[in-house]
Amino acid sequence: MTNADFGSRPVVEVDLDALCENFRRLAALAPDARTAGVVKCDAYGLGAGPISRALAREAGCRIFFVAHAEEGVRLRADLAEDAPDAEIFVFHGGSPATLELFGEARLTPILNSLDQARLWAARGRGPAALHIDTGMRRLGAPAGEIAAIAEIDGLSISVLMSHLANGFDADHPANASQRDALAGAAARFPGAAVSLAASGGALLGPAYAFDMVRLGVGLYGVDPLERDDDAGSDVVAPVARLTAEVLQTQDVAPGERVGYGGTFEAKRPTRLATVALGYGDGFLRAGSNEAQAFVGGAPCPVAGRISMDLTTLDVTDAPTPVSPGDRAEFFGPNLPIEAAARACGTIGYELLTRLGPRVARRYVCARAASRDAG
Ligand SMILES: *Cc1c(COP(=O)(O)O)cnc(C)c1O
Repeated sequence: MTNADFGSRPVVEVDLDALCENFRRLAALAPDARTAGVVKCDAYGLGAGPISRALAREAGCRIFFVAHAEEGVRLRADLAEDAPDAEIFVFHGGSPATLELFGEARLTPILNSLDQARLWAARGRGPAALHIDTGMRRLGAPAGEIAAIAEIDGLSISVLMSHLANGFDADHPANASQRDALAGAAARFPGAAVSLAASGGALLGPAYAFDMVRLGVGLYGVDPLERDDDAGSDVVAPVARLTAEVLQTQDVAPGERVGYGGTFEAKRPTRLATVALGYGDGFLRAGSNEAQAFVGGAPCPVAGRISMDLTTLDVTDAPTPVSPGDRAEFFGPNLPIEAAARACGTIGYELLTRLGPRVARRYVCARAASRDAG
């Protein structure tokens, strides 16, 4: 990538080959289950169109999940050529306001309550999925509604699903109790495929795979299991690389302060590099004085507060000189997104979904290099 391509805009490069490789690796852990791609929230900020098309074309993915009906409508258009037959599930289910969209875009609602189930049975068409709550207490029909839902006339449930509250923690005892609760409820819906695992659940072993796994964050190269080191995943490969251009370098003397509020004080003769990325691009301000960026051949710490458009790095210890025009990597193959997220007090999911419209998305694919600077 040359600077001429993107000027001074931050860029997230999305490796579509790694995306599809992650799909295959995680699918191989549950060979008897179908594998679905979760592309809600614009495919975790990386672009639902290019992501879903790559999954359909290169990985054979034919089942997708989004959160909102409106996301499903857009996805249906995105997949019109590559996978017109794809099944698109909508986590939030249908409401009187969105019901029309389900028919028009051939979306499958995920019913989360007796009320939603009654509405779909009365006004919808075709099968639906049912999300039951097995202990997370976030979304899903509570245990007390399941019998009534099973008895609704003319309601056809094709997928019975639930969601793990602690799927990122392989040792958590709630995983097994949620699994057992789902397995118990499945007896009431004999024709339905059963689905529990998201990316974390996919790593918990065959007992969690049931008939379908719903892969989100793992596809995008973020470790589905929470870990307390900064090493990055040994199961999935990095997919997203966030870089921004160095605009200026300068030397400051001991005692000088950097940025708003002067929260970084140079303790030695210090070389600074100011980079064109800020919280306005979605890189969290909480990473001030904590996060790092890889530039000049090494990770270099953020010096001072991250501002809207700019971040200053201490590049004193970089093994090779840093100059204006160089690009600093805030996460990617050289700097695990898990480490960046931890430095910002958050998780990889949030770093990805916060990437703003000013960050250019660039799609990298060995087979057919494609580009979208949108
Ligand atoms: C977001 C979501 C997923 C995907 O989760 P990941 O951890 O990103 O794999 C699966 N199921 C439900 C219900 C979700 O909300």
